Amino acid sequence: MALFDPAAATAAYLAQLPPEAHAKATAYTQGGHWLLLWGFVVSALVSVLIVRWGVLAALRRRLERRKSRPVLVSLVVGVVYLLVDSVLSLPWSIYADWWRQKQYGLTSQAFAGWLGEQAISTAIGAVLFGLFLTALYALIRKAPRSWWLWSGGLTAVFITVMMVLAPIYIEPIFNRYTPAPAGPVRDQVVAMARANGIPADKIFVYDGSKQSNAYTANVSGLFGSARVAMSDTMFKQGADLAEVRGVVGHEMGHYAHHHALWIAGVMSLLAIVAFFLVDRLFAPVAALMGAETVRGLADPAGLPVLAVILGVLGLLGQPVTNSLIRIAESDADHYSLAHFNEPDGLSKALVKTIEYRAATPGKLEEILFYDHPAVGNRIRRAMDWKAAHPKAD
Ligand SMILES: [Zn+2]
Repeated sequence: MALFDPAAATAAYLAQLPPEAHAKATAYTQGGHWLLLWGFVVSALVSVLIVRWGVLAALRRRLERRKSRPVLVSLVVGVVYLLVDSVLSLPWSIYADWWRQKQYGLTSQAFAGWLGEQAISTAIGAVLFGLFLTALYALIRKAPRSWWLWSGGLTAVFITVMMVLAPIYIEPIFNRYTPAPAGPVRDQVVAMARANGIPADKIFVYDGSKQSNAYTANVSGLFGSARVAMSDTMFKQGADLAEVRGVVGHEMGHYAHHHALWIAGVMSLLAIVAFFLVDRLFAPVAALMGAETVRGLADPAGLPVLAVILGVLGLLGQPVTNSLIRIAESDADHYSLAHFNEPDGLSKALVKTIEYRAATPGKLEEILFYDHPAVGNRIRRAMDWKAAHPKAD
């Protein structure tokens, strides 16, 4: 038997895509890094516009004249702010989230379909996030000195509730989930789930190809709402079983190791840091933005000021959150290899993700911008695994 060379095997996988395809993926990925910055600039400009326009302060005054309770004031102002912000940012969203995806051939969704989904998700987001903001302002009023500390608990509750509800109430609005058809793929996934203590009764296929050509699956939900869902792209591209096992094994790794809960926990801690900084920076940033109509931190008309501060912190904190998620992704790869031993199945699927995440970034670029390990490194790890765990056949 010839000696297996992991480096050569990795190079062979990467060479399945022609150099032009790699170049295009690099252009898309690196353009995406810049998009983070421009996206922030756009949202800061929109925030300044809203705050100088004074529409939120006018709305708040009107509600107060009618003797509305503070909870209602912050809910209405919060929802209106989220809607106005989405409308003003729409040209940017069209460019970044639809037109650019289309240019790179990463979606085949028509504009009308995209816009319709955008409208629905904006409306849902405004209601749900409006409730979060209402609770946040209640905290600010009740505990003006320590609200930022309590905000961590509020964030944890909000994320957990969203994780439980998303697969039941939100995801079905955008995609049709149907039980996976009987056959070898389903049998395989059921067997994998049973062997690893993952709910095996809820295995779904959804029409993911509608929004994206990405080759993907996920295990989402918490407690009773957990289920395995595979995009129909996995079936259209002629999935082989090794590939399904590699990918679904990765997703099961996220579930079995409770990555969502860990990430929610760390995000809640980061929220405390972020809200502490909001507490300290609100006054100077409000002055800088010319927010004369805003009465202070407790005034929901100051939401655009909050948005700018959180936008800066989000941008600066992204390497931290990216790294956190990247560690979970590595762990899920390892779970897949260790439990299902499909290094080639996993690698074959990974090659298909290169078009939207370039395979061989620089080390620093990976740390700063990648929320998944680079595919080149992931395949190499799979091939190293293969070298160390030859299959008996
Ligand atoms: Zn993953």
